[in-house]
Amino acid sequence: MQYFAGIDIGSTAIKIALVDENRELVGHKISASGSMFYKYAKQSLKELLDEFNIDEKELVYTVATGYGRKLFKEADENISEITANAIGARAAAQGKCEIKTIINIGGQDSKAISLDNEGNVVNFAMNDRCAAGTGKFLDVVAMNLELEVDELSDYHFKSQGTPLAINSTCAVFAESEIIGLLGNDNSVEDIVAGVHYSIAKRIIKLVKRVGIKENIYFDGGPALNGGLVHAIENELGKKIFIPEFPQITTSYGAAILANESYMYENEGN
Ligand code: ADP
Repeated sequence: MQYFAGIDIGSTAIKIALVDENRELVGHKISASGSMFYKYAKQSLKELLDEFNIDEKELVYTVATGYGRKLFKEADENISEITANAIGARAAAQGKCEIKTIINIGGQDSKAISLDNEGNVVNFAMNDRCAAGTGKFLDVVAMNLELEVDELSDYHFKSQGTPLAINSTCAVFAESEIIGLLGNDNSVEDIVAGVHYSIAKRIIKLVKRVGIKENIYFDGGPALNGGLVHAIENELGKKIFIPEFPQITTSYGAAILANESYMYENEGN
């Protein structure tokens, strides 16, 4: 059997997806990035191969993507995360819905990508200047509220009142705003819901720059947060599609591309 890997070296996490000859997802792994990410990426790939009893020789082609892609020299090829995200999203939604717009919230940036009927990227917009509206912002909020980031969703759905307005446009100021809200006896639940709605409003502004075309797909780690999904859907007035493994969409796209490149290079052999 031959296998193909997509490695997405993000600012916060390394995501690896493995596909087989039929481009079916065999397995995936998510681990922390850190400053030595190229070392962790190699180690993580080895662990994933071991988990599925795959010999290194069976891994015939690797495509790297994401922020650290050029530093991962072991890859056969590297591609932009916009392209990989588009390929992965279309494949993950195949048979369920046709994707025309992608919202990606990563650790340190957020993106909106617009696709044509064939799945080609026609436009994209990105916010990487400010942490508000990114996973980092959610991490800082969770830390200030003494919660884990994967607990935010439960708190969101327990909010009773109107979500509080969080007006700061910068994570640093938002931090002091949240501390102020806590000091004024606001509930953690209402603060969390307020943070989700403030991120939702920001991301919708970004999506409007490329145009809102259905169906809308949401990926990246923060798409695991059901409360944030709820806030975006309410602000948009539309349902959005969340894949089974939202954080690995881009690595899955890179793995599919690894398969395509290998097939193309070995055509006729
Ligand atoms: P990057 O590609 O930039 O490294 P990711 O798409 O991996 O970013 O997203 C990382 C972010 O996802 C983290 O900063 C965190 O806020 C969020 N996240 C990760 N796991 C979860 C989870 N289980 N629930 C909610 N949010 C999560």
